[in-house]
Formats: sequence, structure tokens, C-alpha cells
Amino acid sequence: MFDSLSDRLNGALKGLRGKGRLTDADIDATCREIRLALLEADVALPVVREFIKQIKVRAKGAEVHGALNPAQQVIKIVNEELVGILGGETRRLSLAKNPPTVIMLAGLQGSGKTTLAGKLAKYLKAQGHAPMLVACDLQRPGAVTQLQIVGEKAGVNVFAPHPGTSIGGGANPLGITASDPVNVARDGVAEARTKQYDVVIVDTAGRLGIDEELMEQAANIRDAVQPDETLFVLDAMVGQDAVSTANAFAEGVGFTGVVLTKLDGDARGGAALSVREVTGRPIMFASTGEKLEDFDVFHPDRMASRILG
Ligand code: GDP
Repeated sequence: MFDSLSDRLNGALKGLRGKGRLTDADIDATCREIRLALLEADVALPVVREFIKQIKVRAKGAEVHGALNPAQQVIKIVNEELVGILGGETRRLSLAKNPPTVIMLAGLQGSGKTTLAGKLAKYLKAQGHAPMLVACDLQRPGAVTQLQIVGEKAGVNVFAPHPGTSIGGGANPLGITASDPVNVARDGVAEARTKQYDVVIVDTAGRLGIDEELMEQAANIRDAVQPDETLFVLDAMVGQDAVSTANAFAEGVGFTGVVLTKLDGDARGGAALSVREVTGRPIMFASTGEKLEDFDVFHPDRMASRILG
């Protein structure tokens, strides 16, 4: 991810090296190249516009000071603006004062929600928490089993409708009506409270495209369990569609943070660079592979440094 963007940005900035003084024309030419690099990486147009505007204003108004030469100064500005569009500060999970903390996962099918549930559980467990997973994706065949496998790998319990329960009716031994993910979510959180788990991670169903019924289902789950955090899981490979998907989830369900998945892929990375600005919500975690350990807290400054190489 970001390799070609990284090359292009560095190429644009290289032209400034060795210049003793930068004219406005130098800055304009560099900004034109940065703009093209960002657009080619599928960064959303309004985000590109604002980014370039800030760089121009700051670079042209930059005082010559300290040890930095003009080129270094522009690089510093680009770096700071990149950190800015990626969210500035690292944003940590906010935990409930009265446990359990409820974390709900939402996103399109295939975005990596179920995998993330395991990653997050493993991460929280390593921090001394006692997490529990709740399987509310009753839409996709095999999703419950997949969560159970992920839970086993992470060494955490999974609250799920009994495998023998037919979807569409009947109660299972835990008293869950399999057809109703809202009940599963509610019962899962109640179970966590009784059994003293301090974090509950609720996996929800997703479709390949935006789907009103599922959006409503996610909103109903949200209302039933009142999550402390709702994380929108976004496949960083999806390119320009990321913005409309993020907006649809912001409107339909609402979310407190974003998790970018598949950052190990070779897509152009525009989703990663647009989503914070477009939704106003912080990117909180990054997923970089299929294994549970391919996961970390998202640090805007480290990501910016990686992009600028
Ligand atoms: P869900 O439908 O949203 O629950 O998505 P899944 O968790 O089932 O993930 C869909 C596919 O993407 C699976 O094959 C995962 O192994 C894979 N996957 C999830 N996260 C990542 C990631 O960060 N990198 C890569 N390369 N694959 C991932």
C-alpha cells in the first residue's frame, strides 16, 4: 500500500532539493505534482483540494528559520498536513466507566469485520482485559462458525446462537431466537455483564453493497446495546467507493471510529487518506494481514512518515 503514492510524492519533493530559495512558481509546480499524485492514489477530490490549499498557504508564507533549508521546510509542511488528514493524534478506545465496554463492528461484507473481531479480542486480552465476542452476523452462512474459529484462535469466548438452531425460529438452549440478531446482541451483552467480561465485541452482518434492511438491522442492534464504540470497518483496497460507503454507514448507523483493513494490499490507498476528512471520525486501528497479529493501533504520524518514506 502507498508504494506508488510514496514514490510520486518523493519525486515531487525531490525537485525542490538543492534550491537555496523557493519562488511561488516552484511551490505551485510542486503542488501540481502532489495534487496529481494524490488523485492517482484515489484520494477524494475535496480532500486533495484542501490539502493542496493548506500546503500552498503555509509554504508560501513560511518563515526562513532554523536549520531547515526551504526544501526541508516544504517537506515538513507536507508531513504535518498528511498527519492532519490522517487524524492528528492517535485515538485510543474509550472504555465504559461501568463495564462491559460494548464495541460494535459495522461494514460491508468482506471488509474484514469477523477477522477484526478476533484481532481486537486478542489485542484487548494482551492488555489485561476479558473480552467476549458476540455473533450477530446471522445473514452470511458460516459467519457464526467463522467467528467461533476466530474466537478460539484468540482464546476468547464467543456468544452465538446454537449451531443446531434453525434460522427463522425456535429458541436454543441459551434462549436466543436465532433469527433475530438484535436479541442475540442484547443477550450477549447481558451474559457478559453476568459473567464479568469487561469488553463485548459485537460482529454484525454486512452486504456486498449498501443495503437498507441491513443498515436498519445494524441501527437496531446499536439501539439495543448502546455501544461505547461503533467501529466502521473499511477495506482500504476499495478505492473511490470508500467515501460513499463511509458516508452511507455514517448516516445509517453512525460510528465513532474507523478501522482500515487490508493495508498490506497493493491498492493505491486513497481510502485511507480520505476517510478521516470525509467522515470526521478518527482511524483507530489498522489491519495488515489475515493473521490475528497483523493488527495495530493506527498512528497518524507513523503512517505519514511511511508515506513520505
Ligand atoms: P467480514 O465479511 O467483514 O466479516 O470479513 P472477513 O473477516 O470474513 O474477511 C474477509 C476476507 O478478508 C477473509 O479472507 C480475511 O482473511 C481477509 N482479511 C481480513 N482482514 C485482512 C487484512 O488486513 N489483510 C488481508 N490481506 N486480508 C484480510
